[in-house]
Amino acid sequence: MSEIVLGIDLGTTYSCVAICQNGEARVLEQKGGHRTLPSIVAFNPDGSVMLGHIAKRQAITNPQNTIYAAKRLIGRNFESPEVQKARELVPYEITQGPNRDPRVKCFGKSHPIQEVSALILKQIKAIAEEAVGERLEKAVITVPAYFSDGQRQATKDAGEVAGLDVLRIVNEPTAAALAFGFKKRMSKKLAVYDLGGGTFDISILDISSDTFEVLSTAGNTFLGGEDFDLRILDYINSNFESETGINLKSDPMALQRLKDAAETAKCQLSSQLETEINLPFITTINEESKHLKASLHRSELERLTEEVVDQTIEITASALEMAALKAKDIDEVLLVGGMTRMPLIQQKVHDFFQKPPSKNIHPDEAVALGAAILGETLLEEEAPILLLDVTPMSLGVRTAGGYMKILIAKNQTIPAQASHIFTTVTENQESVKIQVLQGESRLANDNQLLGEFTLTDLPRAPAGEPQIEVNFSIDSNGILEVSARDMVTKREQSIVVTAASYLQEAERPGLANQEIKEVLEEKTESL
Ligand code: AMP
Repeated sequence: MSEIVLGIDLGTTYSCVAICQNGEARVLEQKGGHRTLPSIVAFNPDGSVMLGHIAKRQAITNPQNTIYAAKRLIGRNFESPEVQKARELVPYEITQGPNRDPRVKCFGKSHPIQEVSALILKQIKAIAEEAVGERLEKAVITVPAYFSDGQRQATKDAGEVAGLDVLRIVNEPTAAALAFGFKKRMSKKLAVYDLGGGTFDISILDISSDTFEVLSTAGNTFLGGEDFDLRILDYINSNFESETGINLKSDPMALQRLKDAAETAKCQLSSQLETEINLPFITTINEESKHLKASLHRSELERLTEEVVDQTIEITASALEMAALKAKDIDEVLLVGGMTRMPLIQQKVHDFFQKPPSKNIHPDEAVALGAAILGETLLEEEAPILLLDVTPMSLGVRTAGGYMKILIAKNQTIPAQASHIFTTVTENQESVKIQVLQGESRLANDNQLLGEFTLTDLPRAPAGEPQIEVNFSIDSNGILEVSARDMVTKREQSIVVTAASYLQEAERPGLANQEIKEVLEEKTESL
């Protein structure tokens, strides 16, 4: 088996693959010279699939069966606001799976999101094998820094379904920083501003020679290039509607064409001041064909989308604050993700940091290159670099009264481990339910439930007497394992929190309906 490790940037809209040999990283090209692959899968009625460029090309005529932006859904709960928002945005059907996971439905068959992502990863593997000329299995896959535990686990699962041995899940901005600073022996504070098709991430790093330390990270997994496309789409559509009385949103094929045209216009306006949107035969009314023709100026695009850009700047400010730094403390600003080609974004980032962003990085390729660099170093016995990443959100458990007790705070360096002693609330309480939560609210219900399990057979004792040690350990992939141990009987129960673990537990009869009094209470400090 080859010792080459694939560095895979599994993007919302485009993916990229690189390898690194003897410290030199390079992007692998596809036949035809493409260096990125659309992250798109289209299903055929016979169950076969089309992938990448071929899938993208036929999207207009087959919008209901062409799955794009699966990354927005992976590892989430069907009921989450993000999945509900996606259901309004995309022309394909998103249904609820048996584990309350979102699935995509094409030709009557529902597909787990991991399967969709696995198909893309399989294609990436095939592209790489063709470019290198040998079988490749090992991979490092990148995810947005702001991905939750469940989203990371689901991405890793997708890699495994694709036949990859996933050595590491690494944050995209950390990978970009590696591509920038590897072997350069620099000492710098870095901001990596990453705005892709569907997600925004900002990370503040401290590079000191071979040590890459993430100081803070923040972001929004539902803010990206698509939001810009939709604002253009809404603007053009409402103008068209006031002229013709036709709302193109009721016609999936017309909508898909308009969406593509909006994205193209947005990209063109990065290099020119004005562009035309020209969609002949966009629809018919009373057997009369209607054509859509509109022009769009860069200043109009900026007016429509400035608010979205400002949101990213606000998040950037909060990341700096968490790192206890000021904008002027940052030595280099890296721009990653296709959207950072937009002049307004470059200008706002420049204004915020009061310095021009670095030109020494390729916005579409840096993440895959960094992943490949990390991949090669993972094969070495003594790692030549030290990566200190952080967990993006606080992790804890639900306690009596409906609160969350944080065990691992956000922006804590990983790998990390923490434990805390809890006790029971009622007399002779036989079991405690451990609910693992992620989020920043003091109230448990406002945070995301990552998983739950029950520690049973507690010895009979008055309330407040048993000592139950809950231990959290988060590995270098950002994946969490939680255990609970009764200090008297030494009985222990644990879970690795996975995308579906909550659901499997909840489906087991008897566990889901436990009363609130059976939750943990935080043991008082005197213990
Ligand atoms: P990524 O997820 O990093 O591949 O970024 C893809 C996003 O970047 C999509 O929303 C693209 O429309 C957008 N994009 C690509 N090229 C440009 C460009 N020249 N100007 C503005 N946006 C772009």
